[in-house]
Amino acid sequence: MHDIVIIGGGHNGLVCAAYLAEAGLKVLVVERRGVVGGAAVTEEFHPGFRNSVAAYTVSLLNPKIIADLELHRHGLRIVERRISNFLPLPDGQSFRSAPGLTQSEVARFSKRDAERLPEYERRLEVIADVVRALLLEQPPNLIEHGIVPAIEEALRAAQLGGRLNKLDLTAKRDLLDLFTKSAGDWLDHWFESDPIKALFGFDSIVGNFASPYTPGSAYVLLHHVFGEVNGKKGLWGHAIGGMGAISQAIAACCIVRGVEIRTGVAVKQVIVENAPTRAGGVVVSETPTARGIVTETGECITAKAVISNLNPKLLFERFVGAEYQPEDFRERIERYRCGSGTFRMNVALSKLPRFTCMPEPGDHMTAGIIIAPSLAYMERAYDDARAHGWSREPIVEMLIPSTLDDTLAPAGQHVASLFCQHVQPVLLGGRSWDDHKNEVADLMIATVDKYAPGFAKSVLGMMVLSPLDLERTFGLVNGDIMHGALSLDQLFSARPVLGHGDYRTPIKGLYQCGSGTHPGGGVTGAPGHNAAKVVARDMRRGRVE
Ligand SMILES: Cc1cc2nc3c(=O)[nH]c(=O)nc-3n(C[C@H](O)[C@H](O)[C@H](O)COP(=O)(O)OP(=O)(O)OC[C@H]3O[C@@H](n4cnc5c(N)ncnc54)[C@H](O)[C@@H]3O)c2cc1C
Repeated sequence: MHDIVIIGGGHNGLVCAAYLAEAGLKVLVVERRGVVGGAAVTEEFHPGFRNSVAAYTVSLLNPKIIADLELHRHGLRIVERRISNFLPLPDGQSFRSAPGLTQSEVARFSKRDAERLPEYERRLEVIADVVRALLLEQPPNLIEHGIVPAIEEALRAAQLGGRLNKLDLTAKRDLLDLFTKSAGDWLDHWFESDPIKALFGFDSIVGNFASPYTPGSAYVLLHHVFGEVNGKKGLWGHAIGGMGAISQAIAACCIVRGVEIRTGVAVKQVIVENAPTRAGGVVVSETPTARGIVTETGECITAKAVISNLNPKLLFERFVGAEYQPEDFRERIERYRCGSGTFRMNVALSKLPRFTCMPEPGDHMTAGIIIAPSLAYMERAYDDARAHGWSREPIVEMLIPSTLDDTLAPAGQHVASLFCQHVQPVLLGGRSWDDHKNEVADLMIATVDKYAPGFAKSVLGMMVLSPLDLERTFGLVNGDIMHGALSLDQLFSARPVLGHGDYRTPIKGLYQCGSGTHPGGGVTGAPGHNAAKVVARDMRRGRVE
């Protein structure tokens, strides 16, 4: 019998497996798709053209995990973009950001903003450091029963309080602002010119079906700045071979450590024993306990503990019997908000695009090319998507990874990732994404073509992923790229539900290790790392039979 079975071979499931195997446990990972990695995969989407088909850029992958799992030794190589971001603007101007360049670019639009930029970056970095320090920690959990565990959690909370208390008053105020305010309010206070606000504001709506003026969106901005590339904080880069190279390196580490990985195996049910029964309002049975899983083909796999890499909604609404879940917990899971408003395209190109504002090929082709010139544009995109189903002037980030990586496309040709927002996660009015995705895909291509005429003609083939496709292909509920909105009510100790922010669930022996747990979505590996620590500790203490 295996000690542990992990449902889902997303990168977090794999990270969790690698740490547990190192702790001496016998681990099996079962993955529904034919390839491991979940949303961090590289696939051929058009003959001869490969790309990171979902997640497309790396920064958040935790450096401790890279080191612990020896990912470089297992083949991972991450390179920096030569220009971080490039924003073509509607009036024929452009804006670029990169270390050593951003300030002079900002000065072309506002001298005042250029002067304020270093202080903005310094203050944001102080708060990013606070978040960084929490990424690999188990959030303090709310305990209702048992003095000893309650003391343990109280100590954890006290430690956190102590750490926050060390911040000076300005940092404490910034922390409050960044966790509660809208990105628009935060940025309008700092800057007056549009391009710099658009650059930073874009981070607040990535995977967030919201306006940059929606309260709470400032945290999403923060969530996108705590990463690093090769030790350089805040940068985004490219994994040679695509995001799948990250998952493959983690899988290689798993194999060396003795983890068994089975692909093409879909889980149908978690085996749970001891449904609580009530007599006169009193719960009379023992605690529900997970014993293993049943696959779609009817195979029973037993294990001492089951860990889910799935979106919590998917796990508890589809794979765990309602009778085993406390009523209030089940209701909270029902209310857990998923739907990031994302539309994703992979495009094979015969040649590089030529932007009207900067037509010659250059380092800006390696950038995250953001078509969203102002916060007002992003707000309109959100309002339009809410009313119409998708924004008719959408936000598009285009990345052309083949400018940094010649393993993805035939020589002289290119692949582009189009990460597009906003669209309704589930189309209202009984409409299906299957009937509208081609129309929306054409709109996305036309949007790029407006800034880079000839782009549409250079398209050789494409893969289009509507929110419904993201759900069908990767198991992302409502196409939510983060496994649930990154809002204050669904973060830290409250992710996914207050009282279960510690990777444990109401079912003994059933744990979660995916992006629906702290610290949330992104290719971080952090939930997998943290869950492994909790499970290994529980096994050592005999909390799992
Ligand atoms: C379009 C898109 C763009 C993104 N861009 C970026 C980016 O550029 N950078 C970044 O850092 N993050 C990005 N993200 C977010 C990031 O990719 C995800 O948050 C992260 O990869 C989720 O990892 P995970 O391991 O928690 O879950 P997942 O990757 O979702 O893994 C869950 C796994 O469970 C499997 N599974 C589902 N059902 C079953 C079943 N019944 N039985 C067995 N297995 C099952 C799935 O196939 C999947 O492999 C993006 C995500 C998407 C979708």
